[in-house]
Amino acid sequence: MCEERVFKKNDIVTVTVTDFGNDGEGIGKADGYTLFIKDAVIGDTVSARIMKVKKGYAYARLLEVITPSPHRTDPPCPVARPCGGCQLQSVTYEEQLHFKRRKVENALRRIGGFSEEKLRAVMQDTEPSPRTLRYRNKMIVPVGTGKDGAPVAGFYAGRTHDIIPCEDCLLGQPENGAILKEILGFMREKGMSAYDEESGEGLIRHVFLRRSRESGENMLCLITNGDAAEYAHELQARLGPGAHPEWKITGAGYSVNRERTNVIFGGPVRPLWGKAALEDALHSEKYDIHMRYRISPMSFYQVNPYIAEKMYEKVLDLAELTGTETVFDLYCGIGTISLFLASGAREVIGVEIVPDAVKNAAENAALNGLSNARFLEGKAEEVVPALMKRENLRADVVVVDPPRKGCDETLLDTITGIAPEKLIYVSCDPATLARDLKRLTGCGYDLTFVKPYDQFAMTGHVEVVSLLQRVSNTRERMITLDVEMEDHS
Ligand code: SAH
Repeated sequence: MCEERVFKKNDIVTVTVTDFGNDGEGIGKADGYTLFIKDAVIGDTVSARIMKVKKGYAYARLLEVITPSPHRTDPPCPVARPCGGCQLQSVTYEEQLHFKRRKVENALRRIGGFSEEKLRAVMQDTEPSPRTLRYRNKMIVPVGTGKDGAPVAGFYAGRTHDIIPCEDCLLGQPENGAILKEILGFMREKGMSAYDEESGEGLIRHVFLRRSRESGENMLCLITNGDAAEYAHELQARLGPGAHPEWKITGAGYSVNRERTNVIFGGPVRPLWGKAALEDALHSEKYDIHMRYRISPMSFYQVNPYIAEKMYEKVLDLAELTGTETVFDLYCGIGTISLFLASGAREVIGVEIVPDAVKNAAENAALNGLSNARFLEGKAEEVVPALMKRENLRADVVVVDPPRKGCDETLLDTITGIAPEKLIYVSCDPATLARDLKRLTGCGYDLTFVKPYDQFAMTGHVEVVSLLQRVSNTRERMITLDVEMEDHS
């Protein structure tokens, strides 16, 4: 009789990694178990220690790479492994791009129910990021207290809330480290405490920095557990352009968050010094677009401007505007996509839930001399039905770009009711994208284009631009249905 091996915690196994999991972890098979091994690369043969055993699968910790994969490379960051923020730093860039395409395909197949034939027809290769390091324009660093009682800033280790001190993230900007160091030094001198999650005491929770690629200017925002106005002058003297012209911190503020929550920002941003918003620009040579954007700290802005502008250019390609269209840009943030579209459409209506972002969007339309874009504040799923009722508008093209949880079902149904010719879905989560595409393709739309964008190089995350085209005349069908129902009543 063949005795099946049962894994126990701390067993050591040798295994060949044959796949990547959803977050870029290595997957191998041993004795009927599927093993998930963080930091192992597809093609590696490794030894690993079993950490947690479940039914049919187990989590293991990488001990040694016995035979390295051809896809393995040296991670550029010294804390890549403990930090865990970059799941793919040990993977060659080419393989990272393949991984992201497969990740999107898998979601569309497993969750969306799309056939192999369909996937072959619509799936494009991953668009590489023009920069794979130092591309991030935004940094949010938690501040805590080190063992010696001094404030530390760094990154949460893996999925924990332990802070690993690290002042230079290689995805971020080179000056971030020095700025953080200065803030920590200031805190030490002034006896300013770091927030403690356990007790809810302490002042400084997070440091937020966002940099304009265009001007190199930085906007600083401290997330605090109380008022910080008394430090405004001294902070400016230490960090402002007078003291450090090279950092270009031309605007700074703070947001008070007294809640015990993972949500970073609290109340509205109060000024410390300088400008209340950062200004950046995104370009498309192809369409001769050079759009300027004002961005308040609480407004969303894509973290990788180098590839964001390529994505927005693709949205314009797919929209095929002729100048006569009405376009809805839902989840529009500061109007980045809306204004690219406004340059080619008759009218663009953007909808966004964050008040500062909607305000920025309207300012941005004016800043770029565009009078054919307007912006509405609220939940897309509530604003769009109300707008349809009030103005009886039709949209030729609808763009949605929701956060990770995807679109609200009622919004998808409202959109298919409006029956635009084209629906462009920009997503940062393949799983919810696949779920929503399934619903949309069941309601008169055909999926015709899916392209992953490497917005988050070195990490397991991926952004997607996809296109749905109307196949049947949904609007007429709905009217016919209404008539039929009336006939039967
Ligand atoms: N298209 C923009 C923003 C995309 S991020 C860009 O590329 O820059 C998603 C945006 O959706 C965020 O600005 C977020 O505040 C907003 N949002 C989240 N839930 C929403 C909802 N229910 N209705 C409208 N906007 C929402």
